[in-house]
Amino acid sequence: MKYPIDKFQSLRTPFYYYDTELLDETLQAVKAQLQPNWHMHYAVKANTNPKVLRHIVEAGFGADCVSGGEIQACLDAGFPANKIVFAGVGKSDWEIELGLMAGIFCFNVESVPELEVINELAQQHGKIAPVALRINPNVGAHTHDNISTGRAEDKFGIAWESAYDVIEHCKQLSHIECIGLHFHIGSQILEMDDFATLALRINELQEMLETYGIHLQNINVGGGLGIDYEDPDGHPIADFKSYFETFRRYLQMRKGQQLHFELGRAIVAQCGTLVSRVLYVKEATLKKFTIIDAGMTDLIRPALYDAYHRIENITSSEQSQNTYDVVGPICESSDVFVRNYTMPTTRRGDLLAIRSTGAYGEIMASQYNCRTLPASYTSQELCCQE
Ligand SMILES: *Cc1c(COP(=O)(O)O)cnc(C)c1O
Repeated sequence: MKYPIDKFQSLRTPFYYYDTELLDETLQAVKAQLQPNWHMHYAVKANTNPKVLRHIVEAGFGADCVSGGEIQACLDAGFPANKIVFAGVGKSDWEIELGLMAGIFCFNVESVPELEVINELAQQHGKIAPVALRINPNVGAHTHDNISTGRAEDKFGIAWESAYDVIEHCKQLSHIECIGLHFHIGSQILEMDDFATLALRINELQEMLETYGIHLQNINVGGGLGIDYEDPDGHPIADFKSYFETFRRYLQMRKGQQLHFELGRAIVAQCGTLVSRVLYVKEATLKKFTIIDAGMTDLIRPALYDAYHRIENITSSEQSQNTYDVVGPICESSDVFVRNYTMPTTRRGDLLAIRSTGAYGEIMASQYNCRTLPASYTSQELCCQE
């Protein structure tokens, strides 16, 4: 990725930098794969920066929200309410009411008690709530334990075995209309076999439901497509072709059925970079530490999931290399971006680019240690500003 380094030099670090050209290219790459009865709802929780959302709205995508705050952010950003879906195991009453009043496309319902509360609130407000049942397909994904969501032991969704009963239950609720089925098996999934397995499980369920004469209008397969954190310049755009091809091949759609997707990470991860300045290089007894001004408060993924992000020194012209632990200033031992990392010899004042941080980066920032939240700039802003 090319960076406007001169512009960077005058900015206070750390900050997030978004390459909006790459974002637009990525959005076009997704659009090129969508068939007429396919719908993309961007998973907003990956990145809610209004500057980023604007591009996604312009691409014509809908949104997948997991809180009332996200629904509000999407409405503010200009997403049409009728393209918003709302998932989450614990929806509060005010969040459900916000969705009802805004007229969102669908509530992705994760339990029977939730279904009953939505019915009650819809009745109070004189609305019919469109719902899709989030079914736990009991599919394990090849990814980190903390971001696996589709196994029977995970907290998400309605048990596979109860799907039929819950659909029947919907019929007794006067203010609920069951319009579809929803699934989401996890995140950062690179094995297309996992998505193929999901598609086959959905086929199985649809066949079973058909024997009871049940036909649903919408199938939502969630998100979860992963990206290449090792080589962001080699693969700046996720493998959308294989991803969508997998569903085209394995998922049996019924006549008139609409297929919905909820990609988050794959859309925004690669366009984002966390830019940080080196404060000190410390030579300790056993290793060298590069201490930078970004910390786990700006990017928590390494501390939270052991996630790897490529780090580049974007101002050094050093030929020699050294091995460092790259760490932040926060008073936590887990405030480490990477250990034993070989890169050009680094000095105080150098700028480091922490790559592939457009998803689950800025949005997870906190003010722990009374830090200020990181600023953000887009390539568009920096290229045209004098
Ligand atoms: C997080 C989430 C997504 C998006 O996951 P990605 O891995 O970012 O694509 C989609 N759907 C639901 C219900 C989610 O919770």
